[in-house]
Amino acid sequence: MGLTDAPRGMRLHIGIFGRRNVGKSSLLNAITRQDVSIVSDFAGTTTDPVEKPMELLPLGPVLFIDTAGIDDVGVLGELRAKKTTQVFDRTDLGVLVTEAGSWGEYEDGILDEFLERKAPVVVVFNKSDLVSKPAPVKRLQDLKITPVLTAASEGRGVLDFRQALLDAAPPDFIDNPTILGDLVNSGDLAVLVVPIDKEAPRGRLILPQVQSIRDLMDSDAMALVVKERELKNAIDRLKRPPKLVVTDSQAFLKVAADTPPDVPLTSFSILFSRFKGDLTSQVEGTLAVDDLKSGARILIAEACSHHPIAEDIGRVKIPRWLTQYVGGKLNIEHMQGHDFPDDLSRWDLVIHCGACTFNRRAMLGRILRCRQQGVPITNYGLVIAFSLGIFERALQPFPAALEAMRAAQARRAGHAPAEPVTAGLPPDAAVDDLC
Ligand code: SF4
Repeated sequence: MGLTDAPRGMRLHIGIFGRRNVGKSSLLNAITRQDVSIVSDFAGTTTDPVEKPMELLPLGPVLFIDTAGIDDVGVLGELRAKKTTQVFDRTDLGVLVTEAGSWGEYEDGILDEFLERKAPVVVVFNKSDLVSKPAPVKRLQDLKITPVLTAASEGRGVLDFRQALLDAAPPDFIDNPTILGDLVNSGDLAVLVVPIDKEAPRGRLILPQVQSIRDLMDSDAMALVVKERELKNAIDRLKRPPKLVVTDSQAFLKVAADTPPDVPLTSFSILFSRFKGDLTSQVEGTLAVDDLKSGARILIAEACSHHPIAEDIGRVKIPRWLTQYVGGKLNIEHMQGHDFPDDLSRWDLVIHCGACTFNRRAMLGRILRCRQQGVPITNYGLVIAFSLGIFERALQPFPAALEAMRAAQARRAGHAPAEPVTAGLPPDAAVDDLC
């Protein structure tokens, strides 16, 4: 399935409402960076709701619905207005656009429609460049709604708008329903490769492994759990090849060698990049490894605060593989738990763990913060696969991520600018697990 092929019903429907000529179409164009709506200085140019399905990083598949102004007059206006009110009923997340400093009965009415339907709403004061400081609106203050200030035609405030969409998106849209259940069918067998070495905690498996097993069982699939040394023997004994092999990223090379090429292979932390964060963003971020030079500054961030041991993945193994790949000394800093800097500008790359102890909104916040500041962010499994030369293979189970990788490679080859996004959310990790 391509990036824009998600069924319409699975997309978050974002309806954009507001008077004519407040800049709804400009706002949509600014965030989509495509001329999907007609932008004009004349009121009422947008005659019908215009729908634009897109993959909005890092929210995922959304459907923007750009409405005609419902203050239209005359027969044509009534037709437009009817279509607009229908859009309220299928809006998961409403966007009310008004000009900075202009709020009246009309905006109150739109807000009432959202509140009646219990739909989350983002209020945008557009054309904020024309007003020095917009007057506060008591209704919004009472409802604790902070308007986003934009000047969409100049592209200002669009990053804040994107953040506000993430903040307001319903939790059931934010949270991925499955770790790998969508990669297997009922009755399929997945092989999970779990090294039992000095790093493995005594007497138990770590959270990503346990959750993956549970996810397979919830999907009526089967899990065969083996150490990396037993993988080849285990696969040889199967009557049919497994549907999927998932390995601890640290064993990637051996597991890639022992897994038949036609069996999809990935790692737990790549699964968690998708489950807890945004795989597409982190795949794109991984390509920045090719830009690293000797002396590059790298932040390695872990969501929990486990005590590192001798051959720790974040402190020893990833630095070693990355240094070998880059061919020069790297300046690497580490952060754990809730510590994550507001200002990321001094790093050339952020490498994050699978964040199994975070909720997804918290991890998305970190990804957004990086992207807002133009700092690429990758993930343990992705950066290991890339450094070891098996990146494409590790992405084989995720066609959309592969497609995004190829598109990003093409953009990089053409020196197209990276798409900036906006800032983050506080993490809420509770931590006592070990990677
Ligand atoms: S470092 Fe901690 S939070 Fe991150 S994936 Fe490993 S166990 Fe989970």
